[in-house]
Amino acid sequence: MVKALPGGAFDRVIVFDLDDTLYLERDYVLSGLKAVGDWAIANLALHGLGTAMIDRFEAGYRTRLFDEALIELGFHPSERLITRMLAVYRQHRPDIRLADDAAAFLARRHPRTAFAVITDGFLDAQKRKIRALNLYRRGIHLGICTDRWGREGWKPNQRAFRHIESIFGLSGMKYTYVADNPTKDFHAPISLQWDTVRIARPQRMHIAPSGDLIDAARVIEKFGEF
Ligand SMILES: [Mg+2]
Repeated sequence: MVKALPGGAFDRVIVFDLDDTLYLERDYVLSGLKAVGDWAIANLALHGLGTAMIDRFEAGYRTRLFDEALIELGFHPSERLITRMLAVYRQHRPDIRLADDAAAFLARRHPRTAFAVITDGFLDAQKRKIRALNLYRRGIHLGICTDRWGREGWKPNQRAFRHIESIFGLSGMKYTYVADNPTKDFHAPISLQWDTVRIARPQRMHIAPSGDLIDAARVIEKFGEF
């Protein structure tokens, strides 16, 4: 989605990642698990699933939350059931809000600075997050869900970043990408000579990323330090 972008109106573009950059991803997970729990009560007459999953998540588990919680409650985690639960999770209406510092930063936008978002993740889910956060009314001009190009379009693919460049028509140094995950977020923007900032929120999900890490030019904990 693109709001009207008058040619030459901007001389700088700040592009944000979404999850754990503009809001806390853990809030999305909790909201999704609660939605799946409510679904299980209504459709399976199964009580306590939401709490069982949330307890596991809070205890630090990050995989097999559905399976293990079902087993704990004496339910067989069939593939069909897990697939259904995943759909409920991705299609729920998220109960999330912008981090206070992000909201304040967006509200202070310089008139010649444009704001955009590049986010990975399942298309349906990411669109719902953008809607729930009301981003287009909070100063974001353009939101790109990389999944519109399929899994291949996800970061570290350059495609979304080049797309931003083609829309705003500025040279690489005029863009800044702000994101949280050195596993995948900074490869493309750095290769295109963008400025990069990593936001390391204390409550973020990817505390200890691994793999082919590329870090941003500088690190902040919240937008107040930008
Ligand atoms: Mg992120």
